[in-house]
Amino acid sequence: MRELIFGRTLEVMRRLAAGLLVAVIAAGAGSGDALADRGFDTWVRDFWPQAHSAGISRAVYQRAFAGVTLDREVVNKTDRQAEFVKPVWEYLNSAVSDKRLVNGRAMLDEHARLLDRIEAKYGVDRHVVVAIWGMESSYGAVLDNPKIVRNVIQSLASLAYAGGRYQRFGRTQLIAALKILQRGDISADGLTGSWAGAMGHTQFIPATYNGYAVDFDGDGRRDIWNSIADALGSTAAYLNRFGWVSGKTWGYEVSLPEGFDYSLADGRSERSLGKWAALGVRRAKGSAFPRPEDDAWLLLPAGAGGAAFLMLKNFSVIKRYNNADAYALAVGHLADRLRGGEAFVADWPESERPLTSDQTKLLQEVLSRRGYPVGAIDGKLGPNTRAAIRKFQRSVGLTPDGYPSTGLLGRARGDS
Ligand code: CA
Repeated sequence: MRELIFGRTLEVMRRLAAGLLVAVIAAGAGSGDALADRGFDTWVRDFWPQAHSAGISRAVYQRAFAGVTLDREVVNKTDRQAEFVKPVWEYLNSAVSDKRLVNGRAMLDEHARLLDRIEAKYGVDRHVVVAIWGMESSYGAVLDNPKIVRNVIQSLASLAYAGGRYQRFGRTQLIAALKILQRGDISADGLTGSWAGAMGHTQFIPATYNGYAVDFDGDGRRDIWNSIADALGSTAAYLNRFGWVSGKTWGYEVSLPEGFDYSLADGRSERSLGKWAALGVRRAKGSAFPRPEDDAWLLLPAGAGGAAFLMLKNFSVIKRYNNADAYALAVGHLADRLRGGEAFVADWPESERPLTSDQTKLLQEVLSRRGYPVGAIDGKLGPNTRAAIRKFQRSVGLTPDGYPSTGLLGRARGDS
């Protein structure tokens, strides 16, 4: 869960990371390591009162931290995840791979009766539940990979101690993880997860687990690490809690008419499917939209040169799992493919690259200098920046889709 979020947030975090400590760790020299280790041990001692006031017993705290040391790999990961921005088509190709489809169909068969019960209780489409399972842990396969699965207390304490902007996340989730141990849902040895603390088959972070995990197999413990029933039940319970609309899809791939007004693809404005159809928007494949009264918004994940989608309420519900359009699109598409649906129709602009945050900042600087107001120069694609890009695109005769790419940056800088 949340690798995409981390990819983004940690980019900010990397820049703001506490300089001294990171420098000590990065140096990797023996004396620097020892210094960081001593500091970590002191930090663990100093954190105890916070844990205690959150209801953690001394015995649980001591057991949780037995043998725990500063995990430099976790700290380094916050650094490394920063630069690369994966184009949405590459992300979709790896997320919805042939192997994941084959394994997902096998899981639908194997767990059909469990999924019947989950659908009956929570009203969430089994294909979506299984798609999330596939996305999060390759149906549990990664849980056996020692390179991925770590001691959650160690990971979160390392983030809390040395994670820069993510120190607060680390502290909050660490307390939540200690509460899991305090309640006895899992042993200290069994409390494993990703470097960022995402746990079990469907990768809940500890606070999410505490809020929404369920004991679906009824053995008295919420065990998302070893019980597939608990893990998938928890995922469905979570989606249900955030408003999953039973019996409806997440969205449709669509085609846009000649001369379409791309300012309507602002990622926000909702109109009914019927109104979109009146504007000439059609399903990429198949017939008219079922339920034309449903509201939808238009997403062009790679601009006018790629596929277009009308997104319904359930798309936003999937984003509650991981707040990234690419993630929710991959879950929705994987679910459709598992159900027997076909691949997307449109091609992607594979010769283009999306912009990193630094490149977006550069584009903002260039546009601003050339008289296109972008708002704050912050490396983020807000509505002002989108509007400035559209204006620039119009002025040079490009399709005004508001989508930035390396090609557009080159054009704006005048070195194309
Ligand atoms: Ca259970």
